[in-house]
Amino acid sequence: MAKRPNIDKLRTALGQLTLAQAKQLHAELGEIVRSLEQQSVELESTKAKGREIIETQHIDEQLYQLELVRCGKVGCKCAGDNGDLHGPYWYAYWRENGKLKSRYVGKRLQRIERR
Ligand SMILES: [Zn+2]
Repeated sequence: MAKRPNIDKLRTALGQLTLAQAKQLHAELGEIVRSLEQQSVELESTKAKGREIIETQHIDEQLYQLELVRCGKVGCKCAGDNGDLHGPYWYAYWRENGKLKSRYVGKRLQRIERR
C-alpha cells in the first residue's frame, strides 16, 4: 500500500491553495470520504463469523450483500466447518454515527428504508 502522506505537510500545502483550488478539493474530498466509508463497511461486514459472501452491490449509500449464513443453533445442518449454510439471503449494511448497522433484506434484493 502507498505510504500515507504526513498530515502536517498536507496542511502546510493546503494553506497555500487559491480559493478555486480549495473549492475543487473540498468537492473531491467529499467523494473520497464517501468511498472510504463504503470500503470500511465492506471490511467490517465480512468479519462476521460463519458467513459466506456471494455477491456485493452498492445502492445509494448502502452496501447490499448476498450471504450464506450460519444460524448458530447447536445441531443445525449449518453447524461445523463443512456445514450446509442457510440462504443465500440479502443483507443491507450502512454506517450510522460511525456504527455499522445491518438489516435482513430477504431472498430477493430490494432497497430498504433505513430507520
Ligand atoms: Zn442453522
